Amino acid sequence: APTIMWFRDDLRLADNPALSDAAASGPVICLYVHDPALAPGSAARWWLHGALTALEDDLRARGGRLCIMAGPAWQCVLRLARQAGAGAVVWNRRYGGAARQVDARIKLALKDMGVQARSHRGNMLHEPWQVRTRQGAPFRVYTPWWRAVRAMGAPLPPLPVPAALGFAALPPAVEDGLVSLSALGLQPTRPDWAQGLRDTWQPGEQAAHARLATFMATRLPGYARLRDLPARPATSGLSPCLRFGHISPRQIWHAVEAQGDVDADGMCFLSEVGWRDFAHATLFDCPDMATRSLRPEYDRMPWRTDPAGLRAWQQGRTGYPIVDAGMRELWHTGWMHNRVRMIVASFLTKHLLLDWRAGERWFADTLVDADGASNPFNWQWVAGCGLDAAPYFRIFNPVLQGEKFDPEGDYVRRWVPEIAHLAGRAVHTPWKFPHVHRGYPAPVVDLADGRARALAAWKTL
Ligand code: FAD
Repeated sequence: APTIMWFRDDLRLADNPALSDAAASGPVICLYVHDPALAPGSAARWWLHGALTALEDDLRARGGRLCIMAGPAWQCVLRLARQAGAGAVVWNRRYGGAARQVDARIKLALKDMGVQARSHRGNMLHEPWQVRTRQGAPFRVYTPWWRAVRAMGAPLPPLPVPAALGFAALPPAVEDGLVSLSALGLQPTRPDWAQGLRDTWQPGEQAAHARLATFMATRLPGYARLRDLPARPATSGLSPCLRFGHISPRQIWHAVEAQGDVDADGMCFLSEVGWRDFAHATLFDCPDMATRSLRPEYDRMPWRTDPAGLRAWQQGRTGYPIVDAGMRELWHTGWMHNRVRMIVASFLTKHLLLDWRAGERWFADTLVDADGASNPFNWQWVAGCGLDAAPYFRIFNPVLQGEKFDPEGDYVRRWVPEIAHLAGRAVHTPWKFPHVHRGYPAPVVDLADGRARALAAWKTL
């Protein structure tokens, strides 16, 4: 009987434990289910289209194919298992509350049908339940968690692409239930807003490994010193590749270790990759992290309602150049530099005093790397309501942040052409040169007033 390999956030052939399991069990049916209830936001859907195209090509090159179904996941998986006479369904685990419920339901139903269900760790360094305090509780603070992870040693070496990957023939009834990739409507048509994404990214497993190799050769030396400067490409840009599982964190870990002694740059980079695991572990323990503050008192914060302010932030028209540059980079490329993500998130939740969830939702729709764990985790971190968060009263001043992390102003000039003629750091305070800014908005809020208002609101908690 064939084994169904159910691809989800693990769109790769190498170091894919579920796929290796399936391949070792006999003929394989490769499945992807587009479940509208779990579908990602607009920019991530664009990525997903490219990612599935690449996976189809990689499977075809090995004589196989990707079967795509659309509908509620439990319905599709059970129907395929029945129609194909499958002996087992295998997958790599997910950690979000809704996804885990779906998986648990399918596991039970398959058992009732006499079909095995086998799940694997494919997308994390370690399972959330493997990294615990001495008392067996979840860690609430990153540094001791990371220390515990490092004490566990290197994760298991990555698996190769399964050498003997045989594909099962499909009965005609199965064919009738399949849809084409284009029928999923993942790509924007009218208006086609994705040109900037196409110019920036290449989804897929091969492109992810090429990106890692380039990063290791050219950007890893100096990463710790330069990773906070948005004007220069100093980080890996691997976040969407990790989000969709074109590459696994343990492949990255072992690639860094293969270079020899892990120096400060290598350790700093692995620790960033660690944050991703920590965010997923937190989601595992707090499944409603995207909708509820991890520190519950923050759900009594007197957030403002300000549709015009929210729109100005979304459109990159707040009048604060580093904020606007970041929001425009996001809109154009589907990605934003980490330092700038922190600055724009602080500006929204503090100077504008808008609910972090409004920002989280906007990022979920516009980031190609939008992730159900990393996105709410980091929003809560910046907004002060996360477990190991920056304290709320630490309010980033966007002008000082701009002057510190974009000292020449090159990042702002790239994304905010209206003020690109202002030289050097003058670009961070365009209101000081009112006769020269061409159509660039005045600040939406006075920084001192916004700060005082935020602190007053926080004191009511
Ligand atoms: P690198 O510096 O090359 O880091 C390597 C990898 O480590 C990244 O690809 C990412 O997988 C992981 N990583 C790095 N920093 C973090 C972090 N703080 N939290 C979790 N993982 C991290 N990252 C996402 O992948 N998806 C999101 O939806 C997301 N939303 C964010 C929202 C806010 C408000 C903030 C402040 C940060 C968010 N991040 C998110 C984290 C971080 O900004 C991105 O992972 C990083 O900018 C991606 O660029 P890179 O791949 O070049 O990073």
